[in-house]
Amino acid sequence: MIYLKTSEEIELLRESNMLVGKTLGELAKVIAPGVTTLQLDKLADEFIRDNGGVPGFLGYGGFPNSVCISVNEQVVHGIPSNYALEEGDVVSIDCGVYKNKYHGDSCYTFAVGEIDPEVQRLLDVTKESLYKGIEQAVEGKRIGDIGYAVQEHAESAGYTVVRELVGHGVGRDLHEDPQVPNYGRRGHGPKLKSGMVIAIEPMINLGKRNVVQLADGWTICTRDNKPSAHFEHTIAVGKGDADILSSFKFVEEVLKNK
Ligand code: MG
Ligand code: MG
Repeated sequence: MIYLKTSEEIELLRESNMLVGKTLGELAKVIAPGVTTLQLDKLADEFIRDNGGVPGFLGYGGFPNSVCISVNEQVVHGIPSNYALEEGDVVSIDCGVYKNKYHGDSCYTFAVGEIDPEVQRLLDVTKESLYKGIEQAVEGKRIGDIGYAVQEHAESAGYTVVRELVGHGVGRDLHEDPQVPNYGRRGHGPKLKSGMVIAIEPMINLGKRNVVQLADGWTICTRDNKPSAHFEHTIAVGKGDADILSSFKFVEEVLKNK
């Protein structure tokens, strides 16, 4: 069941997603070698609560922390720990906020200090593939058009697309219908309509596309242990243009001056 949102609901979703964007911006300020992922989690938890929200992931399906932090070969759902970030790592931070009964969901993958140019290119292409998908998120297109655009961009750069995890509808529930795969066929899948709010979230691997789950029951890693990147926006499908409800502007302002 796909719930179409009213314009009032979309404004509430924007507020939740804007707080996700601001939280990622706060984390961007402190990401550096030596910082533990648990420190980042604590900072995010405090910032979200100080701004009237609740961490959307804490307790979701039993997830033990407030944000998912996945380093290097970890694709998604990494559990914050005492691991201290090292120069050359890439760290993806997936953040959720629940506020006014609506969810926000967005993810950004950060470089820690200087990283291998090959890995920087993976980050760049993954972010570009997200925006290629967003370009397709307009009324009259189909879910398969989004997946096709993401896949086409990532694979033509030589990378692979994770299939086991997908984007999703966002609303009163964190994960709603429809599923939004990062691969697909043009003209296939559910038709996009104004009022649909979805998270588009390419997970793109430097090596092979296969993933495994760690014994902690959460962390998804690449099977070949090569790096993976993950960028996510929550968007509202529009008539001529998608309306991006989350934001990277807070992150990118910090990174510009770092
Ligand atoms: Mg997410
Ligand atoms: Mg998501």
